Amino acid sequence: MTTLFDLSGRMAAVTGANTGIGQAIAVALAEAGADVALIGRTPAEDTAAAVRAAGRRALLVPADLSQAGIAGDVVSAVLAGLGGLDILVNNAGIIRRADSVDFTEADWDAVMDTNLKSLFFLCQAAGRHMLARDDAPRGKIINIASLLSFQGGIRVPSYTAAKHGVAGLTKILANEWAGRGINVNAIAPGYIATNNTEALRADPARNDAILARIPQGRWGRPQDIAGAAVFLSSPASDYIDGHVLTVDGGWMAR
Ligand code: NAP
Repeated sequence: MTTLFDLSGRMAAVTGANTGIGQAIAVALAEAGADVALIGRTPAEDTAAAVRAAGRRALLVPADLSQAGIAGDVVSAVLAGLGGLDILVNNAGIIRRADSVDFTEADWDAVMDTNLKSLFFLCQAAGRHMLARDDAPRGKIINIASLLSFQGGIRVPSYTAAKHGVAGLTKILANEWAGRGINVNAIAPGYIATNNTEALRADPARNDAILARIPQGRWGRPQDIAGAAVFLSSPASDYIDGHVLTVDGGWMAR
């Protein structure tokens, strides 16, 4: 590991790390040298084992991120368990699919609460801790956005609204905190094979249409996102702020 990408001695927290993209990011951060808190509603035992196998500490922090008012307690639990927090990855997210004409208020609220509201208040709680330090290396916050931070998509109105919101929050927080020692950036994954996209991959017509548009011609793997997360967590990205980095096999270029 070169110094540019070395996370030795850093303490990270990843939400939704029991599976999918969050799991791949948590393990990659550990392999780059970070201790990792795994925040989520399903205990991330397998991820914790992989973090420990990489020689780093893993901390399980139980939290249902759809609940209001818990961000401060979640960050306090990370600080108490790891002894610090240098890197926050807001990855947890859900999706609800229905035609906009039929979309329910319950599906609107569920997605907005988990994907946007909780993300903002976790940024705020972590930011309060990071801003209060004057001796540490820069804090890093990475929000997981989406291609639907740029595009409209179909049948996912609350998800598109939330992910556009994630891009906007990433920029406003970068504007406020870039000069105060915190880099805030986002990753916009393309089409990645996880639970989140199971319904799309099970629909032959949608699956073929999606693959036909991806220049690499394949679905992404969770591990495809991990390198970007290590980069945005490391000193290699110290002069990058408010950026939404697509990792999409070329989708946005087409
Ligand atoms: P996933 O496999 O469904 O994982 C989602 C994670 O979020 C799980 O760990 C899940 O925990 C957690 N989560 C959901 N609701 C939660 C809650 N209320 N409290 C705590 N944790 C909660 O999906 P993924 O594809 O890896 O998605 C990760 C992120 O990437 C999401 O923000 C998603 O929008 C984004 N993304 C994915 C794709 C893609 O193609 N897959 C593309 C663009 C963006 P449980 O297992 O307990 O539900």
